[in-house]
Amino acid sequence: MPAKTLDILFHDTLRDIYYAERKILKALPKMARAAQSEDLRAAFEHHREETEGQIERLQQVFDLIGKPARGKTCDAIEGILSEGEEIMESFKDSQSLDAGLVSSGQAVEHYEMARYGTLAAWAREMGQMQAAELLQQTLAEEENADKSLTKLAKSAINLAAQKNAA
Ligand code: FE
Ligand code: FE
Ligand code: FE
Ligand code: ZN
Repeated sequence: MPAKTLDILFHDTLRDIYYAERKILKALPKMARAAQSEDLRAAFEHHREETEGQIERLQQVFDLIGKPARGKTCDAIEGILSEGEEIMESFKDSQSLDAGLVSSGQAVEHYEMARYGTLAAWAREMGQMQAAELLQQTLAEEENADKSLTKLAKSAINLAAQKNAA
């Protein structure tokens, strides 16, 4: 077998989510500004603050594996965020805008959950328990962010989205 091993896969994937998190940090304020619902705006702002901490955790994980914190272009997050921009643009005057913003936010959270779930499992596999713990903490935050969005959608946003439909 060639020398492409789990530690290399782990490092590549860590760089992927590091790149993604920094893009997300920039996107969340735009999503917050676009939101019509005060609660949705607050949810995006709260998650922006959490994202700063998530980036710091990733820097700690890079430290733990003895590598510099450096991102690697994540085509997936570029695509997810550009779909989000498209929704913000085409639904900006619509009562369905917030429903669209929730859907964009959830696409982001699900991508992150996939990445952190995998990274935490690989860290445990390699006996990097401290790294696993940090990644697991962020995974829990992403899961909570996703659940908050579901709750907001179910409680008001989806209802508003189809009210007075012309
Ligand atoms: Fe994140
Ligand atoms: Fe990616
Ligand atoms: Fe997130
Ligand atoms: Zn996040």
